[in-house]
Amino acid sequence: MCALQKENLERIRADFPALAQQFWGKQLVYLDNAATSQKPKSVLELLNRMNSLTNANVHRAMYTLSDRATELYEAARTAAASFINASERECVIFTSGTTASINLVASSFSRRYIGKGDKILITADSHHSNIVPWQLAASACGAEIVVLPIKDNGEWEMEALPALLSKEVKIVAATHISNVLGIVNPVEKLIEAAHSCNIPVLLDGAQGIVHQKVDVKALDCDFYAFSAHKIYGETGSGVLYGKRKWLEEMPPYMGGGDMVGTVTFQKTTYAPLPLKFEAGTPNFIANAALAPALEYASLLRKGEMGRDVAESERAIVEYLLEALPKINGVRLYGIPADISRKIPLFSINVQGCNSGDIAQILDKLGIAARSGMMCAEPVMSRYGITGMLRASFAPYNTLQEAELYVEGLKRALAMLL
Ligand code: PLP
Repeated sequence: MCALQKENLERIRADFPALAQQFWGKQLVYLDNAATSQKPKSVLELLNRMNSLTNANVHRAMYTLSDRATELYEAARTAAASFINASERECVIFTSGTTASINLVASSFSRRYIGKGDKILITADSHHSNIVPWQLAASACGAEIVVLPIKDNGEWEMEALPALLSKEVKIVAATHISNVLGIVNPVEKLIEAAHSCNIPVLLDGAQGIVHQKVDVKALDCDFYAFSAHKIYGETGSGVLYGKRKWLEEMPPYMGGGDMVGTVTFQKTTYAPLPLKFEAGTPNFIANAALAPALEYASLLRKGEMGRDVAESERAIVEYLLEALPKINGVRLYGIPADISRKIPLFSINVQGCNSGDIAQILDKLGIAARSGMMCAEPVMSRYGITGMLRASFAPYNTLQEAELYVEGLKRALAMLL
């Protein structure tokens, strides 16, 4: 790594106060970014400023303080629309996160378009958030869930797709990047195949939004869901993008204040998009913080900084792809044939070792890694195991931290095996 590259990465780290902490007398090595990323100062400042000074309910009042809060809230919608290249900002719905976004579509879309005997196609690498909402919807409307399987290396079994896209399938809900396997899935091919059968596609973008440039217009996806807290934003905030034609026709998900036109005891008309899907007081401060969060994410992708971040992430991917399988007993999951489709997220299982035990030893070394099923029990079952240990990296993580992780892992395994 050249001096300038190192300087740029150090500058990024300095923007994240949480990284400067120590645990058990060791410098924190935060490797659970796929669960929640840390927040840069710009996001923390906005949260603090709004909580202290601009805390007034949005959209409702005729006084200046409320106007200011509304402006910040709506500015974040514009920022989100621009970040994913949505053609209309009204097609960006604020939710509490990916889970809420998928539940919204599963519930509302199925009520309008799915009936008895129909099918919903999901991908086998799905997080529980892209499984359970569809099961709830399917059981409510008499539909069936079908699953696109994954191969041993974690890639989608695309050969199985044509036979699964039957005329009964009313929607495909697919994972852009799995939180366990870390593979950028061929979503463009999936969307093309589904659209050729007139089937809309929802993408679970919880990880995709962080590691890929998402352009919903170019992708032509029908829905895209993501959470703010995985991309430097606040918890309790997220986005559902949907094509206008679907959002217009789908019934509201929740009823309440702000989502109505007129209300009588006999009949209610609904507000135009996006408010039709934003019943009640939204998490307006968290949602407003999406603007500086996405601004920070854009900065990490642009120019010299973008090049340095991409190079650093590639070096981490190459190093761990080589180092992890060499450790005795370690099996690494999610190795695509084309290595450029691997993000810096590594899930392993060690024969004879409980992943939680390894994570606890790593914690004593200052290393925060995730263990367990990672809300993807069917992925664990696919590989015949009950848990994995996951290290997921963000642009503020360094190659040196990846090396510390490997050293720590070896130490832990020496104690446990
Ligand atoms: N989908 C994927 C692929 C995820 O990684 C996650 C969270 O880890 C989710 C959905 C759920 O996100 P949230 O808990 O923010 O709603």
